[in-house]
Amino acid sequence: MKIAVSWISILAIASMSSAAAQVDKFANVQIKVTHVAGSVYMLVGEGGNIGASIGEDGIVIVDDQYAPLADKIRAALKGVADKPVRYVINTHFHGDHAGGNIAFQKEAAIIAHENVRKRLATDQPAEALPVITFGHDVNVHLNGEDISALHTPHAHTDGDVLVYFTKSNVVHMGDNFVRYGFPYIDTNAGGSVSGMIEGLEKAIAHLPADVKVIPGHGALATLEDVKAFVAMLKQTRAAVEKGLNTGKTVEQLKAENVLADWQSFSGSFAKADNFIDVLYEDLTGAQNGKWREHN
Ligand SMILES: [Zn+2]
Repeated sequence: MKIAVSWISILAIASMSSAAAQVDKFANVQIKVTHVAGSVYMLVGEGGNIGASIGEDGIVIVDDQYAPLADKIRAALKGVADKPVRYVINTHFHGDHAGGNIAFQKEAAIIAHENVRKRLATDQPAEALPVITFGHDVNVHLNGEDISALHTPHAHTDGDVLVYFTKSNVVHMGDNFVRYGFPYIDTNAGGSVSGMIEGLEKAIAHLPADVKVIPGHGALATLEDVKAFVAMLKQTRAAVEKGLNTGKTVEQLKAENVLADWQSFSGSFAKADNFIDVLYEDLTGAQNGKWREHN
């Protein structure tokens, strides 16, 4: 009996400390601010990178991480300039990028592609939804910037935008460009490898060569980094397509380590085998969902 009681206590303590760890996940997060160029700053905390145009007219932020971090994000912005957050642009609907909407919506107009609002509306309260939506592109004119949000159809999701700060010459690419290795492509939410390639190629063609790139996750980058990422997407897709065309199964392609040449992209988030599943789904339209089960 005594033993049983102590087991219960141990379990109780264990579950309490894991709940505390959840809270601590955000309690220990610090928001690091980096000046990128002109009026644009990058904020790194937990979740997707935030881009911010900060100036006389106020603040526009691109993505807002998680709601529990909102006060820290406000404090970090205040450290640059004591101006109100007037607009929030969501690059897409995922919680690590748009989770802060519920904290910012009362003070700022949240702008997003109409599919972001649609997807958030399935499980989020009205207070977390974008209040201004658009079908393809939208421009925000503030701080002498023409801030252009350009929709990339069926890329990381079906609601992504790339946000270009034209005067400062900085682009926030959301999760269409990430630096943690093979990307996550949300095929359940209208995403596709081909859409990601198409969207990025269009951007590469239009952006100045010296544009500074804020990725969805990871360190500041250049257009050359984006080009290398697109090349990887095209080459890995071609490698898997070639294998499938010769009648090989997904399991055979994995056993043969068909993406061995891109091993450096096999990161903590997605291994080469996971990405073979994504490419297979993308090429065949199959929904085996194997990769998603791992995430
Ligand atoms: Zn995402």
